[in-house]
Amino acid sequence: MKVLLSGVHSGPNPSPGFGTARSLRCAYPDLTLVAVDYSRRSSGLHANVFDEIWVQRSWTELNLELYRQQISDALGSEGIWLSGLDLEAIWLSQSTPSNKRILVPPASALRATRKPAIEVHNDLPVHVPPFIETAEPDWSLHAFCRRFGWHIWLKGPYYEARRIGSWIDFEEAREELAETWGTEELFLQSHIAGYEECIAFCAFEGELLDAVYMTKRDVTNEGKTWAGKISEVPAELYSAVKKVALDLRWSGGAEIECVRDWSGKLWVIDWNPRFPAWIHGATIAGHNLPAYLVAAVSGMKPVQRPQESNEFTRVVIEIPTNKLLPLMTLEESAASAFGWFSKHPSGMPQLAKRLHSQKERRPMMAYEGELPDLETELHDVSLTAVSTPQRVLLKKHAKTLFQRSAEAARSVSNSGLTVHLAYSIKTDPNPDLVMLALETGMLAEAISLAEIHMARTVGFDLAKVVYNGPAKTWRAGTTTPQDLKMVFCDSLEELTLLEQTFGWPQTVGIRLRPPSVISRFGIRLDQPKYYSNLVKTLQAIPSDRTLGIHFHIASSAIGTANWWSLFDSMLTWAKQIEQHSEHYVSCLDVGGGWFPDDWAEMLLPDLSRISVSASRSLPKLSDIILEPGKALTQSSSALITKVLEVRMMHDEGKEIVVDAAVSDLPQMRFYPHRLFARNGANNWFVLGRGEDRVLGRICMESDVIVNRISLPSDIAVGDILIIGDAGAYDRSMSYDFGRGE
Ligand SMILES: *Cc1c(COP(=O)(O)O)cnc(C)c1O
Repeated sequence: MKVLLSGVHSGPNPSPGFGTARSLRCAYPDLTLVAVDYSRRSSGLHANVFDEIWVQRSWTELNLELYRQQISDALGSEGIWLSGLDLEAIWLSQSTPSNKRILVPPASALRATRKPAIEVHNDLPVHVPPFIETAEPDWSLHAFCRRFGWHIWLKGPYYEARRIGSWIDFEEAREELAETWGTEELFLQSHIAGYEECIAFCAFEGELLDAVYMTKRDVTNEGKTWAGKISEVPAELYSAVKKVALDLRWSGGAEIECVRDWSGKLWVIDWNPRFPAWIHGATIAGHNLPAYLVAAVSGMKPVQRPQESNEFTRVVIEIPTNKLLPLMTLEESAASAFGWFSKHPSGMPQLAKRLHSQKERRPMMAYEGELPDLETELHDVSLTAVSTPQRVLLKKHAKTLFQRSAEAARSVSNSGLTVHLAYSIKTDPNPDLVMLALETGMLAEAISLAEIHMARTVGFDLAKVVYNGPAKTWRAGTTTPQDLKMVFCDSLEELTLLEQTFGWPQTVGIRLRPPSVISRFGIRLDQPKYYSNLVKTLQAIPSDRTLGIHFHIASSAIGTANWWSLFDSMLTWAKQIEQHSEHYVSCLDVGGGWFPDDWAEMLLPDLSRISVSASRSLPKLSDIILEPGKALTQSSSALITKVLEVRMMHDEGKEIVVDAAVSDLPQMRFYPHRLFARNGANNWFVLGRGEDRVLGRICMESDVIVNRISLPSDIAVGDILIIGDAGAYDRSMSYDFGRGE
């Protein structure tokens, strides 16, 4: 009898065919084992466990209908096909009527186990980590990443996952995965910290034959199993898997990949319609799953072997190659994609592209958030006469943001505790915005004497200025700390200097560096010696003085949930410092760094949480300061730009050159910007993702404004586009470039 095993590559990222064959050989010494693969680079083809090899043309060349027929012919009435390749299993399951000797689950079962949703997880005691499909607008994807603190995976529909930690990482990885798999149907999933555990099982026409539990003990740097421990599947899970296998009428091998988090919760991240590549590890532990499957189909009794060990490891061994298959030279000595062929020797990307090209393309979803009212904001701007690129302040929008925030701060203040907003001048020193801060009753937050001077020119009283930053003596003027609302020292050295020059202010402000994050700012707390130095210095302060404590870690970088735990931990530190230094904390400044939407949707509505928990921890607290910058200003400016050229590309979308450049938008790569065009009725709308590109005016490779956007089909030279979210650092850090000066 013959068993054909497809997917026999055995490298650092192996397919299961080789291990499955070894297990079958233990149970059935006389079976004819046939290795099937789709390129000669699949290393398992050389293994002597196989009796025959059947190397196919690549998936791009195969005639799929003919191949399906050839498989049936090869199996006859006796043979068995065990697919070791997910996509091949998907393709084979689509055939009707199904061939019972091809052991793949029915198409409906594959749909129910498809990631990321893995619908059947509802019937198991497991959870699915939060995810979002990349068909959603970039704006929502960025929000998802912030929400989960940038501990995020970008995953392909079948294979491959990339860990991303920033928007730049994401855009790069998205391009690469979309290119490899021929689809933009990718998804982002929140990382679950914990240990990887798997369930492997086999079933025949819905009947569960056996299952094992595997806990990874060593992994490759791609996260693939290198060593593991096999145990029984916990009873509750076993009976659930048994029921699911029956409901799905599962046939063949399967692997359910999970992560167990610190609290013991089990999260399912993948469900493969094939045996795992480590399946021979289960055989070593006395569970020969491939043999049970063959026995169920054929009725042949397998040779039983006792357990050798309940743990297994991989080793690397050299074997002689098959004389019929001389090795090929490396194909890509000069190209950057070195090692690509050894990564996908079974050609799954090619098959993915073929299967996808038969499918209808899913459209990208449209943006549906709140937007500035550009019609009103730009009413007084003559778009035909304006010299472009031109940044405009969206005055109404800015005013609404400032007022709404100031109102929220007032509403949580009371007679004993004032919540202040201190506008971060450095983020956007536009005098109109600094004025708006003054008018709405905010403080001003400065990081240099020059900024203090600027605030005064606009009309700020010194008593309404918070002084921060690492270099307060730069171009020193005459300001004394006693005149300011607060001064926060970035180091103990600075604190000592302050005291020597001016004496102790009424409230002594210090910036702390939270031990759990990487930052260059603030007084260190991560070692007892630093903490004890701090306490000693503070103990020397006259007893009638109080303390001001400040931290600033951007929630846009660490994530909103992490920011709240940081806030809680800083309260604990403040309380400790209060006790050890014997000085009350009267002022708490929690810094800035909020993305505009998080500020509006998560922080402002929860502002009382800050004041309530802070005053509970610190009984003499009288002032809380928040220092918003980009939260108020990022969306408050837009850049008007003009189309200089339209290039039609052959069936690949168009490229346009505009008169804006990276130098006008230095933050372009760091977060998504909403781009607006006008429709026939002259209304502004947000452009979605598509096949077009917007290129900047400067002769630099990096001057690409945006990739993969959908431009209006009739866009023409001279048309105006508006680039939104171009305030804050896009304005303050923009520079002149390529202007002959
Ligand atoms: C820059 C800065 C802010 C504002 O940060 P945003 O990212 O604009 O919110 C607040 N506080 C301090 C001390 C800063 O240096």
